[in-house]
Amino acid sequence: ASAATHHHHHHHHQQHRPAGPRSAPRTAAARRSDLLSATLAFEDPSAFRVKSLGELLRALGIFRLCSFPVLVNHCGKLMSVARTLLGRRGFSLLLRPTVYAQFVAGENEREISQSMEKMSLLGLRPMLAVPIEEDLGESTGEKRYDDNMEAMLECVRMSHSNAWSRDPMMQLKITALLSPELCVKLTTLITQQPYDLNLVVRAMDGEPINFPGLDESEVAHFLCGLQRLNKIAEASVNKVRVLVDAEYTYMNPALSLVTMAMMKKFNKDGSWIWNTYQCYLKESRSLLLDALCLSKDEGFCLGVKLVRGAYMDKERKLAEKEGCLDPIHQCWEDTNDSYNGSLDVMLEVISQKPERYRIIVATHNEESVRRAAKRMEELGIDKDGGAVCFGQLLGMCDHVSLTLAKEGYAVYKSVPYGSVEDTLPYLVRRAQENRTVLQGIRKERDLLRKELRRRLRLSK
Ligand SMILES: Cc1cc2nc3c(=O)[nH]c(=O)nc-3n(C[C@H](O)[C@H](O)[C@H](O)COP(=O)(O)OP(=O)(O)OC[C@H]3O[C@@H](n4cnc5c(N)ncnc54)[C@H](O)[C@@H]3O)c2cc1C
Repeated sequence: ASAATHHHHHHHHQQHRPAGPRSAPRTAAARRSDLLSATLAFEDPSAFRVKSLGELLRALGIFRLCSFPVLVNHCGKLMSVARTLLGRRGFSLLLRPTVYAQFVAGENEREISQSMEKMSLLGLRPMLAVPIEEDLGESTGEKRYDDNMEAMLECVRMSHSNAWSRDPMMQLKITALLSPELCVKLTTLITQQPYDLNLVVRAMDGEPINFPGLDESEVAHFLCGLQRLNKIAEASVNKVRVLVDAEYTYMNPALSLVTMAMMKKFNKDGSWIWNTYQCYLKESRSLLLDALCLSKDEGFCLGVKLVRGAYMDKERKLAEKEGCLDPIHQCWEDTNDSYNGSLDVMLEVISQKPERYRIIVATHNEESVRRAAKRMEELGIDKDGGAVCFGQLLGMCDHVSLTLAKEGYAVYKSVPYGSVEDTLPYLVRRAQENRTVLQGIRKERDLLRKELRRRLRLSK
């Protein structure tokens, strides 16, 4: 009924336009796309009506704090000072109702389920993430990785066995299961001499493969890591889509190799394993095109998580230190062009073969979201057909997620969970990232303020 009213409205409007050759009746597509850009303007603070007063104030307070560069830049240090001063319990008492509540779903299944039920009522779907941040020099033996695997298997189970599970997704960090050191070494090796994908697939199947260039203990660890990944993939096929995170350029090639092997093994009839493409990288477009070719040659379905990229500062610092070429696009505009270009490529192939390719437009950027929606419309891709969905992080740009969901798109919220201690590095990164996601956050703050003012007026 609402579509009909809109239609009528539009017609009416046109009659008042001056007659002339230019005002010839516009095409239905143009009219639809007008409606689309009006609804996806993300200007409507009513998206926040579902939030409690406490939640509004919390969000405003936290985004306000994130707007002070001093605080954000020294966030990690400040947090560890606070932890020393307040002690573990005091620190947890400070963080729990504030930053933690904003960005983390909870610690145990009951807490997680509570916040997921709320989200599912709003039409948002779950993408659980076990926040394990590993970088070089932090690894501690096979046991640690086995524990991480158990945590991931638990995540698989939780993702698909609850009332709020609806075509669930989860995020997977390979460096939580395979040491970052080995990933770096593999990266060096495969840039010199690419590994055969089948070798990795056979190792996942349990064959004792001997990988060239690795010593005995490295081979053993690699085989164990592949077994862990294999176990998680087996547990999730036909139940949960597993989205593998992209990390740093000095290990991404190894992560992609392993992910492609998982795709080859598990994506024969559907996209259960997905890879991530970071569009801030100069080479991201060619990496995506390579993946498209490979999936075609090897006959597997390709799932793509398209992001801009989260590690810009660290990547740049490293490139400078090592005297290499900066792997990141020179400016934000170039990253944007890269993102939108790759988005177009994916939507194009999806419109031709929607059963072979899938994408999650994982961004808070309104322009990219609108662009995706517009192209979907033009190419005739279903809003909720499964091939295209959108993703934002919990606690960030709810106005974008809620509006998209209301309009009938498939929207996922990436939901980290765990204790304050375990999620701390994630929280620090979140705060720092809010600095680079300027536009979205400023807008969200404005909308939150509007909604707050409206309620204050109402309560008078
Ligand atoms: C569901 C989900 C999953 C994610 N998974 C991953 C992942 O696996 N790996 C990963 O790295 N990130 C991941 N991210 C984070 C993502 O890469 C971005 O950091 C974050 O989403 C901000 O980008 P944006 O498009 O939302 O916002 P925008 O505000 O549009 O863009 C900000 C981004 O633009 C880029 N940028 C900013 N300034 C410049 C500049 N001067 N020059 C060049 N580029 C610049 C940076 O990448 C920055 O993060 C994920 C995000 C979501 C929502």
